[in-house]
Amino acid sequence: MEADKVKEACAVVAMRCKQDVAQYIYYALRALQHRGQEASGIAVYSGGLKVKKGVGLVSDVMGPEDMDKLSGKVGIGHNYYSIKVSRPENIQPQSLKTGIGDIAIAHNGIIVNSQLIIAQLKKEGKLFLLESEEEAFIMRLTDTIRATDDIAKSIKTVCKELIGSYAFALLVNDRVFAIRDPYGIRPLCLGKLPDGKGFIAASESVALDVLGAEFIRDVMPGEAVEITEDGFKSINIGASINRAHCFFEWVYFARADSVIDGMSVYEARKRIGWRLAKEAPAIADVVMPIPDSGRAHAYGYALGSGIKMNEGLMKNRYIHRTFIMPTQDAREISVREKMNPVRAVVEGKRVVIVDDSIVRGTTMKKIVKMLRDAGATEVHVRIGSPPLISPCYLGIDMTNRDQFIADHRSIDDIRKEIGSDSLAYITIEGLVEALNFEKENLCLGCVTGEYPVNIPGERRRFQQTLEGFT
Ligand code: SF4
Repeated sequence: MEADKVKEACAVVAMRCKQDVAQYIYYALRALQHRGQEASGIAVYSGGLKVKKGVGLVSDVMGPEDMDKLSGKVGIGHNYYSIKVSRPENIQPQSLKTGIGDIAIAHNGIIVNSQLIIAQLKKEGKLFLLESEEEAFIMRLTDTIRATDDIAKSIKTVCKELIGSYAFALLVNDRVFAIRDPYGIRPLCLGKLPDGKGFIAASESVALDVLGAEFIRDVMPGEAVEITEDGFKSINIGASINRAHCFFEWVYFARADSVIDGMSVYEARKRIGWRLAKEAPAIADVVMPIPDSGRAHAYGYALGSGIKMNEGLMKNRYIHRTFIMPTQDAREISVREKMNPVRAVVEGKRVVIVDDSIVRGTTMKKIVKMLRDAGATEVHVRIGSPPLISPCYLGIDMTNRDQFIADHRSIDDIRKEIGSDSLAYITIEGLVEALNFEKENLCLGCVTGEYPVNIPGERRRFQQTLEGFT
């Protein structure tokens, strides 16, 4: 349930079309709205850069009149979730007029060593407006293109300096690129519009679906792709031997109808639920999802356990973010107005509720109580990710350990805290098996405390020497 969920940190889109791209990017961003609802923006190039961006959902920020103004056949787009959005100038795409022309960038991820890069650039006399990692990237790229007169080579050179996660959509004047970090931490895929209208790169395949575009392939880890009039031109920027796809994309972030790195998100969630039923069976009368996040996991749990699934919690789809009044009564009401039990399904029943993850546990505690108040005789909680114990430094909004209910607590302590009769999380082994990836090719940092890249003060997943890059 949204109130107790970590937030994704952005969607990117890059396109080249035979006609104006802005409207296509608009619809692609709307399909990716789940990845960021704080701000949105589009940048197109046609002899010069035109940018429209602002705070709010895509449809709040842009309307038909903006599409007319954003004429141009190449463009990029971005949806933003970030605390940094309190500074409107941080909204992406970020752009600069440089000595080699106009550059605009949209970024999903976090560059862990950005402060070092910014400090170095300042030493060289560069003046920053935002001190953002995107601004630093543009400055480094400009310098390198100036020195080499080769955009592709310059992208490779600058990306080699970055540590962290990135899926970039990049405009360099009228050339447009999609770039994925050496581990493939954040998703990025390529598609082809119908009737030869053009080509697209986007964070998830649902953005292609909405445009009727054909899925071509994922951008490979360590690959930059230039989107040309004829298709895609690949530039190897140096993949790692091992990948580190963020497991949370399949568990929660991505839309269930997306396919990421060859894996259907819906099927992955279903398999996680199935595995959870085998690892942590419950004697119960009904399996219920927490809507909407736990639906596919619950379906899998029902299949794996043989217990029928039923919708015992209804979500009010029209309540999104609300200001929560600072009184106890108001806090209780705020959960009940978002979700309400179906007494006919719950009363007199032993129920299993299934969700994808627990962060703070506050909402789960209220749901368990709500179900007991509605007459459930037993409430068993099953969770489709291992306990979250460690921050994410790679682009997801969970930045400190204190926010996790599982931090330094046993499963039984958490069970007591949320008030359920039993509680079980999927094991790391079970999760890896359900996702059908090698463990070495997944980022599991927030559930193991071991990260795929060097994070100051944290453990590295395994030592990667320079020879580890191809
Ligand atoms: S630390 Fe967790 S949320 Fe962050 S990238 Fe890794 S798996 Fe994803």
